[in-house]
Amino acid sequence: MTQDIFVLIEHLRGQVLDISYVMLAAARGFAQDGQVTAVLFGHDAKGLANSLAADRVLYVDHPALKEFTSEAYSLTLASLVNKHHPRAVLMGHTSIGMDVAGALSAKLSLPLVSSCRTLSADGKFVSQICGGKIMAEGDLPSPTALVTMIPGGYKTEQGQSANAPAIESFTPPALDNLRVVLKQIIEPEAGDVDISKSPFLIAVGRGIQNKDNLDLPNELAAATSGTVCASRPVVDQGWLPTTRLVGKSGKRVKPKIYLALGISGAPEHVEGMGESDVIIAVNTDPNAPIFNVAKYGTTIDLLELLPLLTEKAKQATPS
Ligand SMILES: Cc1cc2nc3c(=O)[nH]c(=O)nc-3n(C[C@H](O)[C@H](O)[C@H](O)COP(=O)(O)OP(=O)(O)OC[C@H]3O[C@@H](n4cnc5c(N)ncnc54)[C@H](O)[C@@H]3O)c2cc1C
Repeated sequence: MTQDIFVLIEHLRGQVLDISYVMLAAARGFAQDGQVTAVLFGHDAKGLANSLAADRVLYVDHPALKEFTSEAYSLTLASLVNKHHPRAVLMGHTSIGMDVAGALSAKLSLPLVSSCRTLSADGKFVSQICGGKIMAEGDLPSPTALVTMIPGGYKTEQGQSANAPAIESFTPPALDNLRVVLKQIIEPEAGDVDISKSPFLIAVGRGIQNKDNLDLPNELAAATSGTVCASRPVVDQGWLPTTRLVGKSGKRVKPKIYLALGISGAPEHVEGMGESDVIIAVNTDPNAPIFNVAKYGTTIDLLELLPLLTEKAKQATPS
């Protein structure tokens, strides 16, 4: 066994996803004697390694690894882990990472610690569980632990570097007779606004209570040129279209200001907005996990606050 920390790099259509940088930052704080090793799978994708703050990159090139598929990734990562025996393998608590982590844990009989927010040099993890309501702490199991990580504990910049790391190429196992292959990526239909382009997002959650109350954030949006978006319950009720959904099953957004109204801050929601420049949370529950990622927060009832905010915004806007 080595003390190296492996980080499975997630990328989509030629872009490294932010969770990869978050994990590299976590690995740097956790690695003591070992190397921070970025594990990059792809096809003609070596260039993606350039921005990674890692001591080295283990790069595996194969047409079957051009875009993520569960089987190809799991087989390749399993053979790397079997060869190198790292201290830990960090994967995103994302659709990709959870898929691979579960398969790898079963395949290699390795323990899996999920939904981790931070890792520390003394080998401890903090994991956010039960929709973010409980922070569990513990020692990362030995000798090799699989870990899935949520955003919020580290800034993406901490995992980025201007100096390209050293790259070692690795030959993948046989990837010829895969049962699952990617045939096509189908983009969602355009038509509504693109919430990922807005610098000011007014996000509403279940705390908005009913569809009629959506008039309140809509009025604030009109007064500020903001854009209204939502957590899943609001979209599931059909109060807003899926194009407005933020989170694991919706869009990842990074606005200058994210005003979270009546949103608890479940990991699946934070995955999509945790990298916003400034998060302001309005939630009547002082223990709501959204306050863990918010820069500013208040426990005022959102239904009382919104008309006042809109009024102030109108007064501040020159007519
Ligand atoms: C596989 C999977 C994928 C998922 N993907 C997503 C996703 O993409 N996006 C997403 O958002 N969720 C997603 N979820 C759901 C997620 O786990 C949460 O259930 C969801 O985010 C909760 O939404 P919420 O915060 O609006 O509601 P709740 O958790 O019910 O929180 C409502 C909050 O409103 C507060 N509140 C109530 N009344 C008021 C008031 N008057 N004023 C101020 N505050 C008030 C309450 O204190 C509470 O904290 C996913 C779940 C799974 C399992």
